[in-house]
Amino acid sequence: MSEQHEVFLGQRTFTGRLELVGTVIARTALRIGAGSSRDVSGPDLPVVQDTLGRPYIPGASFKGVLRACAESLLRGLQPYASRTPQEPLLTCWSVSRSDDGKAYVWPDEYPGYLTAGTVTLMKDREFRDQPDALNRALYERSCWACRAFGAPWLASPLLVKDLPLDETSWAGHLGMRDGVGIDRGTGAAREKLRYDFQVAPAGTRFACRMVIDGAGQAEIGLILLALEAMTNGLAPLGGAGSRGLGRITLEMDWKRCVWIAPGDALALFGDRATGAAAPTDTGLPVEARAGYLRAFLEAAGLPTAVVERWQQAQPEEENYGAD
Ligand SMILES: [Zn+2]
Repeated sequence: MSEQHEVFLGQRTFTGRLELVGTVIARTALRIGAGSSRDVSGPDLPVVQDTLGRPYIPGASFKGVLRACAESLLRGLQPYASRTPQEPLLTCWSVSRSDDGKAYVWPDEYPGYLTAGTVTLMKDREFRDQPDALNRALYERSCWACRAFGAPWLASPLLVKDLPLDETSWAGHLGMRDGVGIDRGTGAAREKLRYDFQVAPAGTRFACRMVIDGAGQAEIGLILLALEAMTNGLAPLGGAGSRGLGRITLEMDWKRCVWIAPGDALALFGDRATGAAAPTDTGLPVEARAGYLRAFLEAAGLPTAVVERWQQAQPEEENYGAD
């Protein structure tokens, strides 16, 4: 049985837990909209705020950006992947939807074509009363993005918590911007289309925590690759991107990440189970990250030669190991 099969069957077994810690920094003002305001004296487009009026980033928004990053990387890597005709593409075409508006659709010429309809057929006929075989087939016929970030028929191993404000970066008030609707025909400002919107100012920082539970090494590798793209500022977050808003960078705090190995399930319960505190700050050294990255590249049929160079290029302060 290949590693991937074991991974999937492992969904119902504790296969280790990885908690990732970092900080999102707004490099320009950030607008993560909360819809339109019901407050007549408030801005037309407020940002999402917690009960104390402080901005935050919903975990689902961050995860959506991370997934978009992963999909764009996967499409870029596709030409380098060695692939048999039976193997699905590295990522499916999430822009297309089936008629019922629910499912991700593959182009017909590629196998691994999964829609809500085909999944129902698999459940009712092909794999009737064979839950393990069904789960394995759903995993194998899903693309890498769906495996790491989830699909209607596949639970995601990645949970992103809401990103609260870092109080030390906060001056205590949101910024306000004016917007004007432009008439496409005349190119002039349209009457009654003046609006204002709130922004979180540049420099605002948000604490980022993610948990990866029950993922295979390759899925973790893909998630780390997408995080690397965000670290390099390659993914905007929130609205008004055409006005230069939403540029963010991510700073990962690898030393504060927590890894609980498959054999250490009891450690999750801390001293109630083991007589010792639950592990914190185990860290995720560069060698471990390189291992996940290699696992993904190998599983996806991509060249792994870049891993050593990537490892050597990491900043020195990150190159701490298990000493
Ligand atoms: Zn997919």
